[in-house]
Amino acid sequence: MKIYISADMEGIAGVVTDQQLNPDGFEYERFRHFMTAEVNACIDAAKKVGVSEILVSDSHGNGQNILLEKLPDEVMLVRSWPRVLGMMEGIDSSYDGVVFLGYHTGADCKQGVRAHTMSSSSITSVKINNVVMSEAGINALIAGHFGVPVILVTGDDITVHETKQMLGNIEGAVVKWAYSYHSAKNLTPDTACKLVADKTKAAIKRINTFEPYTLKGPLVLDLSLKNYRPVELLQYYPGVERISAHTIRLIADDIIEISKFLGFIMEYNISLEP
Ligand SMILES: [Zn+2]
Repeated sequence: MKIYISADMEGIAGVVTDQQLNPDGFEYERFRHFMTAEVNACIDAAKKVGVSEILVSDSHGNGQNILLEKLPDEVMLVRSWPRVLGMMEGIDSSYDGVVFLGYHTGADCKQGVRAHTMSSSSITSVKINNVVMSEAGINALIAGHFGVPVILVTGDDITVHETKQMLGNIEGAVVKWAYSYHSAKNLTPDTACKLVADKTKAAIKRINTFEPYTLKGPLVLDLSLKNYRPVELLQYYPGVERISAHTIRLIADDIIEISKFLGFIMEYNISLEP
């Protein structure tokens, strides 16, 4: 059995502000250990119930948060950007299930610690075929493109609720309860790890009960940006239409095309070096 773990950081127990999330934050180095510990709890539990191959993608910030040397030898780790499949790089149809670890709510959600979709400073809404999309939604569609179901999400209570609403009866590990964008009641790291392990085992024991998440193509992406100038420029791109002051629309054949488009928007800058 093969499992893919897409690991973000906002939904790790104890994370509440950018002080834990960015390399210049005073708690960041400690929280890299806590994130790695939750990933390892998932890996160890999966191995105990018959998973033989695991790929982890470090999918937060610079993509260089997880401590590679702390992972078991049989695991491999995807690091840094850009990647065509974003937070799902390396997934293919050979995988049996996907875990969203340390996830958070989307830009369209009123609640949840650090609620955003891909960029908290520039993206205000993402919809595909008029369905509101969190990162979990987009990434579930990428997994679904390869016929792979999401089996578990971990993060705050709102994230677990939001993701279950979208994907159906997947397993969820609530490691904190959101009070606001920058506050939550948290489990300790050890308790969070035990919960992640329990829920991983529960998910894998019923792995045949999950369905891949898909939407019928063509896929209509409606992307709303905070600022005017990116919207003005993006409408120059063939196939992109500006449907309102802050929203562009792309009609794509599949989610891979959307993933490439979003990756391009997030990463491209004419001054990129090397
Ligand atoms: Zn993140």
